[in-house]
Amino acid sequence: MDTEWMARGLCTNVPPSRFFPSDGAGVELARKICAECPVREPCLEHALEQRIDHGVWGGCSERERRRILKYRRAHQVDAGRDDGGRGDADSDVEQDAALS
Ligand code: SF4
Repeated sequence: MDTEWMARGLCTNVPPSRFFPSDGAGVELARKICAECPVREPCLEHALEQRIDHGVWGGCSERERRRILKYRRAHQVDAGRDDGGRGDADSDVEQDAALS
């Protein structure tokens, strides 16, 4: 598992508690940091692959990640994508929002 990207995350300089919020306002604060992060995509994929079910990773909450995984299972998104199945976080979130 490649975790080299972790050292480049913007959260390395932020208290970890920021990424494990207890309410929606806290999720939004974390997401704002993630939105500017250069390793957002590998971060999100890591959380999805490892089935991490706590905290904000790659700009997505637990609930959003569950929806992405559900969407991928339902549509077998990983199988035929040109990007090798890594997915595009923004695209997945948009697809996820469309399912809501
Ligand atoms: S996307 Fe967010 S949680 Fe992931 S490394 Fe970047 S700042 Fe940290």
